[in-house]
Amino acid sequence: MRSLTDLTDTALVAAVEACGGKPFQARQILHWLWRHGVDDFAQMSNVPARLRSSLAERFTVRCSSVARVDAAADGTEKLLVRLGDGETVECVLIPEGDRTTLCISTQVGCPVGCVFCASGMFGVKRNLTTAEISEQVLLAQARLQAPRRLTNLVVMGMGEPMLNLDALLPALQRIHDPDGIDMGARRITVSTSGYPRQMERFAAADPAYNLAVSLHAADDELRRRLVPSATHAVQDIVAAAHQYFGRKGREVTYEVVLLEGINDRPEDAVTMVDALGALPCTVNLIPWNPVEELALAGGLRRPSSARVDAFADALRRGGLKVTVRRQRGADRSAACGQLRLRAADSAPRA
Ligand code: SAH
Ligand code: SF4
Repeated sequence: MRSLTDLTDTALVAAVEACGGKPFQARQILHWLWRHGVDDFAQMSNVPARLRSSLAERFTVRCSSVARVDAAADGTEKLLVRLGDGETVECVLIPEGDRTTLCISTQVGCPVGCVFCASGMFGVKRNLTTAEISEQVLLAQARLQAPRRLTNLVVMGMGEPMLNLDALLPALQRIHDPDGIDMGARRITVSTSGYPRQMERFAAADPAYNLAVSLHAADDELRRRLVPSATHAVQDIVAAAHQYFGRKGREVTYEVVLLEGINDRPEDAVTMVDALGALPCTVNLIPWNPVEELALAGGLRRPSSARVDAFADALRRGGLKVTVRRQRGADRSAACGQLRLRAADSAPRA
């Protein structure tokens, strides 16, 4: 059965009218769904019972639910989200002072297959729908105790957002919509492993969200080793990101997952300064969060803080702005795709 969250505003009006209701009631339902986050027809108190039951015969309220929560000592919560067809994705809630950031997924698995990432280990199963993407925000919000509320959204969970723009853009619109979740576009960041053509389409979208580009290495050959299915040259990715800045006036963040001895060497910093030095951007260094299976198979290691600091200093000396991501929820395997991996491990096998 289709969910109400899966309907566009126009389709919701049509559904309400088909059930004998009026357009203003569709608007009320819209508010219940996205502003108040109700997950049950019974809670839609200003909607006549007859209309509610008629809708309930054709629709569910939502299409996904929380299957499991992993809470870390630092307050980070990882939600394993079960979708209508039984597939799972994860999203991560990260409270930090006044800020509460949610990291959401866009695909079941990921087709890109970065050598260090748990999400890409088994390829991609399917794209998430618009409703499945935006519902992650509702599911996460329901876990927060007032006055804490969601302040930031990062599309950095499982999947490659640029390969599911058709579903992602309307989902972000829903999350941004002042009539719904009402999150400012400046608080929303989408991360991509670098697809210039799709980045261009993303740049044309209104409003202007923040863009993060997972670069990892500025040398084409090394980058291809880390991001095997990336066919685009670093130069083209950087040009697309720069164009994004030109169109939106938002500085792009480059993300670099650091792997000891692979992309954290002094020469890697030099190529990065050469590629990015002249551009308005920030480089965010992310010491690799180990995934056991990948560490064993690929001989990957997380660099020491001293190595991370040395790399950061080399970039700074080259004129780049650099931040280093602090580890969050490490005791509960916070990196992308890892909860799903563990859930699959612990699931009974036929
Ligand atoms: N597919 C998109 C968005 C999801 S991944 C992308 O690649 O940008 C979000 C970020 O998490 C990326 O920068 C990715 O490189 C990083 N990441 C993935 N696995 C990681 C791990 N094990 N440790 C640290 N960062 C990781
Ligand atoms: Fe996919 Fe991003 Fe993971 Fe690469 S890092 S496999 S693009 S989710």
